[in-house]
Amino acid sequence: MTTPVHILTFDIEEWFNLLDFDETRSVDSWDKFECRIFNNTDKILELLKRKNQRATFYCLGWVAEKYPDLIRKIDNAGYEIGSHSCYHQLAYELTPEQFRDDLKKSIDLLENITGKKVTNYRVPGFSITRKNSWAIDILIENGITSDSSIFPAPRGHGGFENFGTSKPVIIQTADGNLKEYPINTIPFLGKQIIFSGGGYFRLLPFMLIDNFMKRSPYVMTYFHPRDFDADQPVLKGLSKARRFKSYYGLSSAFAKLEKLLDRYRFVDMKTADNMIKWETLDVYK
Ligand SMILES: [Zn+2]
Repeated sequence: MTTPVHILTFDIEEWFNLLDFDETRSVDSWDKFECRIFNNTDKILELLKRKNQRATFYCLGWVAEKYPDLIRKIDNAGYEIGSHSCYHQLAYELTPEQFRDDLKKSIDLLENITGKKVTNYRVPGFSITRKNSWAIDILIENGITSDSSIFPAPRGHGGFENFGTSKPVIIQTADGNLKEYPINTIPFLGKQIIFSGGGYFRLLPFMLIDNFMKRSPYVMTYFHPRDFDADQPVLKGLSKARRFKSYYGLSSAFAKLEKLLDRYRFVDMKTADNMIKWETLDVYK
């Protein structure tokens, strides 16, 4: 049997970086919210050290701009750093030029701190969809070689319906190739569902997540510091459904993550890249 590839990743952004919400949409509004990212990221770093697990951190350029010490800390602890854009905007709401500028700025900010090339990317809100797949060309043009922006299922915003696979594939373009690591799905009660991050991980009972993990040869997790912060303020003006999605299960999520790290061995993107037999996988054109 081949070794399962379970990848651990965190999107390093603030608790208020919710998408599709006018109060927090623009970067100019962010200064009025309290800063919780240091404590929340520390909690994750301490856990990873205790459980001896590797992970990749997709960081906002904005975090690098405002708190370079936090990026330095993640890098000094030996974790791989990718870009999660600069200003956390939905890619399909940007023009190709705006998307390119945002990507470049985030890469520059992160590289200037770590001195290492940024080759991993994840878009905010899984907002690379069939309609704005031009974003893939821009990633390749800017030196991104591995991407984890495809959410191959319907969702509130973003999502790439009918992507065709929830396993790694090589996306081939005229300007080069990109290794795509979609979020994995699993068939459950007649539907393809997601379990490995964000609200889904907080909502599902651990027993079910454990069962799904056992059945998944490939798992791409996507956690955020806010997923484990039960004391964060509740943003005013969210719809009931949105409030539920964003705040449900915060108090039990950290214990669930601890259990997950006890039971399964995770890798970062670099290690996953070496484990995957790319030559045997599908090419996506
Ligand atoms: Zn994000």
